[in-house]
Amino acid sequence: MQSTAKFGNFLDFKPEHQPQALELDLPWCHPSDLARFDVIIIGAGPAGLRLAEQVSLYGVKVCCIDPEPLSLWPNNYGVWVYEFENIGLEDCFDRTWPKACVYIDDSKTKLLERCYGRVSRKKLKQKLVEGCVSNGVRFYKAKAFKIEHQEFESSVLCDDGKELKGSLIVDASGFVSTFIEYDKVRNYGFQVAYGILAEVDGHPFDLDQVVLMDWRDSHLENEPYLKVSNSKFPTFLYAMPFDSNLIFLEETCLVSRPALSNSEVEKRMVARLRHLGISVKRILEDERGLIPMGGPLPRIPQNVMATGGNSGVVHPATGYMMARTMVVSCDVAVAIVECLGSTRMIRGKQLYAKVWNTMWPIESRLMREFYSFGMETPLELDLNETKRFFDAFFALEPYYLHKFLSSSLSLEELVWLSMSLIKHASNRSRLDVLIKCPVPFAKMIANIIWEYIR
Ligand SMILES: Cc1cc2nc3c(=O)[nH]c(=O)nc-3n(C[C@H](O)[C@H](O)[C@H](O)COP(=O)(O)OP(=O)(O)OC[C@H]3O[C@@H](n4cnc5c(N)ncnc54)[C@H](O)[C@@H]3O)c2cc1C
Repeated sequence: MQSTAKFGNFLDFKPEHQPQALELDLPWCHPSDLARFDVIIIGAGPAGLRLAEQVSLYGVKVCCIDPEPLSLWPNNYGVWVYEFENIGLEDCFDRTWPKACVYIDDSKTKLLERCYGRVSRKKLKQKLVEGCVSNGVRFYKAKAFKIEHQEFESSVLCDDGKELKGSLIVDASGFVSTFIEYDKVRNYGFQVAYGILAEVDGHPFDLDQVVLMDWRDSHLENEPYLKVSNSKFPTFLYAMPFDSNLIFLEETCLVSRPALSNSEVEKRMVARLRHLGISVKRILEDERGLIPMGGPLPRIPQNVMATGGNSGVVHPATGYMMARTMVVSCDVAVAIVECLGSTRMIRGKQLYAKVWNTMWPIESRLMREFYSFGMETPLELDLNETKRFFDAFFALEPYYLHKFLSSSLSLEELVWLSMSLIKHASNRSRLDVLIKCPVPFAKMIANIIWEYIR
C-alpha cells in the first residue's frame, strides 16, 4: 500500500493496475499450412486491428502478426464523441463529458459545447478483435523483422524464423516502425506527456467538463527555473475528472523540437498539482507519451502500405490520431478489396499506388501541409504568444474548430478558417505569427507547390 504524498513525491509511486490481456480464443495461423494471404498486417494496435476488421468484412484473407495480439493497449485515448458515433463505435467509451474547457489564463476560460470521451481500450479492442474473428482473420504471434518483395507477392520474415506470404503487406507497427521509407528528412516535432490516473484527496475541476488545455502558469511563481523554461517551452495540463476523487491528469508539451525532457514535464506537473491543492494518494495507471508530429509523409507509393502512427495520419497540430485512423481504414479497406476482391486480381505496383493514393489523395496531402504549419507555429511561440494564439483559435466558430481538430475540413473550409483566425486574432497575436513564422510559412507554400507539380 502506498502512503499518501502531500503534494510531492507521487513520482515515486508505482501504478497499481496492470492492463489485463483479453480472454478470447483467437484463430491462429500455422505457417506449416503454407497459407497465402491477400493481406498481412503487422501490428495489432488500434490501426492494425481496425484495418484487419474492415478489409476482412469483404471476404479478403487477412493475417495479423503481433507478439502479443491480446494484450491491452497501454495508452489513455481521448476523442470527440461524435467522431466515434459517426462510425458505430459509440459503445467503446469508459466515460464521456458533455463539455470541454480551455484555461487561457487566470481570468479567461473558453468553453467548448461538445461531448468528449475517454476510449475504453478494452471495449474497443474486444470489438475489433471479435469483428476480425467473425470475418475469418488469422493471427500469428511473433515479431516481424524483414519484408521481401517479388513482383506480385511479398513475404514477412518473423523472429521465430517463419515466413508468411501475401499480396499486400501493411505495416501497422506504430511509431517504432522500421519498414516504411521516406524520401525527405524526418524533421518531426514531438509531443511529450506524463499522465497519471490517480486517486486524489480532491480536485478543483468541474465533473461535467474535460480540461482540454490549462495554460495557466501561476503555479510557477515560486519556481524561477521552471517559470523561465515554461515561458520558453510551455506545457499545459490535460485532465479528465471521473469523480471528486478519481482523475486522469496529464502535463503535456504540445510540440517541441528537440523533445522536452520527461523530468522537466514531471517537475512542472508536481508544481502544478501542489498549487491546485491536489494531493495524490494512489496512482492506478501512468503513461509517458512521446508522439512524433508533422514531418514528411512516407514515400508515396511504396511496396509496403502503412497505417496508424507510421502513416502520417497523426494530426500534426494536436497529436490525435485514433478517430481519423478508424475512419480512413474503411476507405483503405475498400481500395484493397477493389484490387484483391474475388472478381479482380490487381496486384503489385497498381495495388500499392491505389491504396496509398486512397489514404493520401492530393487534397489530404495539401491539407496536411496546412496542419503541419499549425504545428510549426506553436514551436516558434513562447507562453504568452501561445496563450494569445489559442485565445483566437478557440474563438473560431465551433463547426470549423471541431472539423479542424478532427482533420475533416475541406480545402475551402480550411481557407475560410484561416481568414477567420486572422480576423479573431488580436493585433499582437497577428504580429507574433508574422514575425516568428515566416520560415514555416514559406516551407508550407513550397511543399504545397511540390505536391502539385510532382
Ligand atoms: C501516451 C500516448 C497517448 C496518446 N493519446 C492519444 C489520444 O488521446 N487520442 C488520439 O487520438 N491519439 C493518441 N495517441 C496517438 C495514437 O493514437 C497512438 O499512438 C496509437 O496507439 C497508435 O496506434 P497504432 O495502431 O498505429 O500503433 P500502436 O498502438 O503503437 O500499436 C502497434 C502494435 O504493433 C505491434 N508491433 C510493433 N512492432 C512489431 C513488429 N515488428 N512485428 C509485429 N508487431 C509489432 C505492437 O506490439 C503493437 O501492438 C497517443 C499516443 C501515446 C504514445
